[in-house]
Amino acid sequence: MRGHDPRGLDLVGCLRGEVEELAGELEQPRYRGRQLFRWVQARRETDFGAMTDLSLAFRERLPPVAYVGRPEVSREQRARDGTRKFLLRLEDDEEIEGVLIPDEDRLTACISTQVGCPLACRFCLTGLMGIRRNLRAAEIVGEVLALQDALGEGERISNIVLMGMGEPLLNFPEVERALTILCDELGANFSPRRITLSTAGHVPGIKKLAESNLGVNLAVSLSATTDAVRDRIMPINRRWPIAELLQACREYPLPNRRRLTFEYVMLESVNDSDEDAARLVRLLGGIRCKINLIPFNATPDLPDRPSPRDRIEIFQKILHDAGLTATIRESRGRDISAACGMLKTDAEKKRTATAPVTATQGPKTD
Ligand code: SAH
Repeated sequence: MRGHDPRGLDLVGCLRGEVEELAGELEQPRYRGRQLFRWVQARRETDFGAMTDLSLAFRERLPPVAYVGRPEVSREQRARDGTRKFLLRLEDDEEIEGVLIPDEDRLTACISTQVGCPLACRFCLTGLMGIRRNLRAAEIVGEVLALQDALGEGERISNIVLMGMGEPLLNFPEVERALTILCDELGANFSPRRITLSTAGHVPGIKKLAESNLGVNLAVSLSATTDAVRDRIMPINRRWPIAELLQACREYPLPNRRRLTFEYVMLESVNDSDEDAARLVRLLGGIRCKINLIPFNATPDLPDRPSPRDRIEIFQKILHDAGLTATIRESRGRDISAACGMLKTDAEKKRTATAPVTATQGPKTD
């Protein structure tokens, strides 16, 4: 990165130690680097001029060695339920989406890790875009900081879910770096327990995550109980089938009292039968986990239909009766296409808007 960008290094993507080193290179004591890190990550300052407790001599030497980048909010939409969706423009004009989801006791930021996604899950709008590129750590951290910037005094993001656009485990080095920065106690100081990484089932990535000491929660999007069905709706299954995926889950070192989450998008007559529920019980036997049943968010661009509510409830009851914990995810921000699987850049929307629309919009918020 350094040397390519005339502005130098984006400090938002630098670990605390790296900022300390930079201070050293500029003939400053290390603690000055620590202060600079705190300005960037905890106080979210982007202007060196405002960092008044750093010496003028230090501040004046920072550009062109370093700068503080920030994705720009190019559009914001608010749903009736308080969910806010942001379109964020990156330095190369690519766009990603990030969502703020307020709840009674938490405020969750749903963050993207790639521009688009290569996995092409049949039920996911981002999958239709294909992959444009990975996000850099600075951009992933920048998303969180930009969403926090959009909040008022006294409102603080409490949880982060990597459930926006992209497959986080296909961009593991940058995701790992971003999460390390976000959890630094001199920075944004997120607890890893309040961060959830969600994967479509990239087995080598799950192993890498297991070996890292990030300590974040892991969610696995399963969404089928047979390889025949999963191959069709999640092509990644052809590479890492269910047995291999669940083996990696069994081997995943879970801290005490923590559980894996399995996400299961409910698609009518595809994966929502009583037999599916019974097979799911068998598959997940012996794994400390909870299951999140996600009502499918249908759009005219996607072929499937959502399972009826009573079907989801019967499915849940079969899981409950077998002793599993299963919740039905409440769909948030549906009226602004901010719900699960509905994230897609504007550019892409314009492209598909020219295609004939054959179905009406799905139901509004619940
Ligand atoms: N690639 C990662 C994270 C992004 S998707 C993963 O697959 O887990 C985040 C969640 O949204 C996944 O559980 C995915 O199955 C779900 N999802 C995708 N499209 C959806 C849709 N149209 N309706 C409901 N959930 C969807």
